[in-house]
Parts: sequence; structure tokens; C-alpha cells
Amino acid sequence: MRSKTKMIHGGITRDEQTGAVSVPIYQVSTYKQDGVGNFRGYEYSRTGNPTRHALETVIADLENGSRGFAFGSGMAAISTVMMLLDAGDHVVLTDDVYGGSYRLMTKVLNRFNLDHTFVDTSNIATVEHAIKPNTKALYVETPTNPLLKITDIKKMSEIAQKHNLLLIVDNTFATPYWQQPLDLGADIVLHSATKYIGGHSDVVAGLVAVKSDELADRIHFLQNSVGAVLGPQDSWLLMRGIKTLALRMEATESNTQKIVEFLQGHEKVTTVFYPGLPAHPGHEIAKSQSGGFGGMISFDVGSGERAEEVLKRVNYFTLAESLGAVESLISLPAKMTHASIPAERRAELGITDGLIRISVGIEDSEDLIEDLAQALR
Ligand SMILES: *Cc1c(COP(=O)(O)O)cnc(C)c1O
Repeated sequence: MRSKTKMIHGGITRDEQTGAVSVPIYQVSTYKQDGVGNFRGYEYSRTGNPTRHALETVIADLENGSRGFAFGSGMAAISTVMMLLDAGDHVVLTDDVYGGSYRLMTKVLNRFNLDHTFVDTSNIATVEHAIKPNTKALYVETPTNPLLKITDIKKMSEIAQKHNLLLIVDNTFATPYWQQPLDLGADIVLHSATKYIGGHSDVVAGLVAVKSDELADRIHFLQNSVGAVLGPQDSWLLMRGIKTLALRMEATESNTQKIVEFLQGHEKVTTVFYPGLPAHPGHEIAKSQSGGFGGMISFDVGSGERAEEVLKRVNYFTLAESLGAVESLISLPAKMTHASIPAERRAELGITDGLIRISVGIEDSEDLIEDLAQALR
């Protein structure tokens, strides 16, 4: 089955009992047992729920994994995966990971003596250099936010194998429609399904998929022990989102390319960051490991004041955090998503005050371009 078909026919797609073509929302916490310890596949909804299970099978299918897991948010998924590690272990992470992941490592898991090093994973040498005797995992986000840096997942998996590390990839920006990290050698792929997978700005959720049965058992044990599971209603919403994921990703890609072209030719825009541009340092790798370049663009308008003026004037771009929805969103990373990162570190990463980030939606591209044009003017 090809990717687009999997989004419709993958996983569990209907109710065997009634023939309903949409999996019912099993709004239930517990299940009648036929005898003590003799249950029909489900005993308690933290451990397993039929609606969540249907979603978990479809994400496993889409990522070419063996099993999937659904969580109450992307951060719940990431936190649970990090529980695979022990106190005293060390993790090497992409330096411009999602702000929440940065906060989890530096303000929460550090208290449990889980050590970390942030490096530019787009540079292989720095990754090898950061590995210590107690390093147990490599955590990669590609493309990154907001500068859209690209990491070579295959090269990371070679390093991981050589040093016996778990390779964890946050695939939120690319989605399984464009990029399948498990096929490139990752052990664990995870998502903030709040973004493209849900796609309609109406649900907060996280998803994980793995290939190996051993890892699947360990993650299921943690999912049940930690308990940060996704509810049945939200699981259903994600399944509905997945049905149009391919269409939405294609529409976003096409709009994004037109907007990139417009921004590149604009006199008030100093730099455009987009992996689809041949001049982007990660362009060739992005082309080789991903079917598309995604719907995120960052561009610099020279100063914080100018950037705020643009944000004030746009009509079709909603000023909001988050990304990956049908509606276009606009934000100022330095003052919004990355405000919790110290100014010094932001400067190191290249997140300037004049940097605007847009998440391109599926509106008419001409309206989006006209809107940006009037706002920049
Ligand atoms: C949003 C996001 C997260 C966190 O997900 P939540 O659903 O907000 O908890 C993690 N990684 C990336 C890349 C994100 O964009």
C-alpha cells in the first residue's frame, strides 16, 4: 500500500461489529471481564482503548513501524520516550530543538540527573565529538524550528549504531507523508500530532512509532506506567486529520513554494530560510531523505520593529504559536516560541529579532502573497 492509500485504508478503519466506516469513539474507562483476568483484549483505558488503538495502528503503518503509541501531547510523548533512559545517562540533541524539548531537558530531566549536550546535528563531526562513555541516545529534529536546518538521518543512524545509541527523531515538521525516519535507521520516531497530523488547530496530541518489538514493549510499559495517554475523542480527531494529511501536505507544499519565490524577490526581505532553496545548506540532504520540503518558512526583515509592523498588518495570517494547520499562521520566534531561550543563546543560534516565521496553510496562494505584499509595504 502506498502512502496516500495508507492514510485512508491503513491501521484499523472500521467497526467490525456494525460495519461503520469510521472507528467509533469508545468513551469508556473499564471493560467487563468474562471471568477474573479473562478480558476481551481491553481491561482499562490507560492500558488500552479501542479508539486509541486504531490510531496507534495507523501511525505505525504510516511510519513503517511495528507499533504506535498515542499521548496527551507532543511533550507527553517526548517525556515518556525519555523515560527509557536512566539517571546518569547522557543524550546528544539537536541544538535548535523545539523550545519545550529544550525546557524538558534543561529544567526537568536534569533534576533526575539525565545529562545532555546540544550540538548542531547538521554537522556530523560535532555529533561524534559530543559522544561520551555514558551517552545512550541521539535526539534529532529535522527540519528544525525556526531556521529549518537539516540533519542527515542516515548518517545519524550510522553514528548511533557505531556507539550503540538509540536514535530518536522528532518528525513533526516533515510528517510521515514526506519523511520516514524508521526507514532511514531511526529507532523511534515521534510527533507533536497537534501540528500537521491533526491539522485543524483543534487537538493537542503526541504520537510515537517504533520498529522493534523490544522497544515497543518497553514504550508500552512506560505509556501505561506514566499514564500520559490520549483520550478517545482526541484519538478520533487525529484519525480524521490523517485521512486528509496527504492532500493537505501537497496543498501546503505548493503554496509554500510560491510564497518562497515571492519573498526571495522582495527588497525588504534580507534572508529566506527554506530547505527547498538550492542555496540552503541542507538542500541536498533534504532532497534525498524527504519527499517534500514542508510548509514552514522563516525570513528576516532586518529589525524587530519592522517584523512587528508586518505581524500587525497581515489579514490572512493568524498571529499565533503552533504550526501545521489548514490556516496560515505567523509568529515572531524571538518574542514568542523562543522567548524562553536566553537572548545570548538565541544569537548563537541565529534567531534574530527581525526573523518572522510562517506556517503556510491551504488558502489560495494569491491571497496569501497579496497579504504579505501589503504588510511588507
Ligand atoms: C509543538 C512541538 C512539540 C511539542 O508538542 P505539543 O503537542 O505542543 O506538546 C514538539 N516538537 C515539535 C517539533 C513541535 O513543533
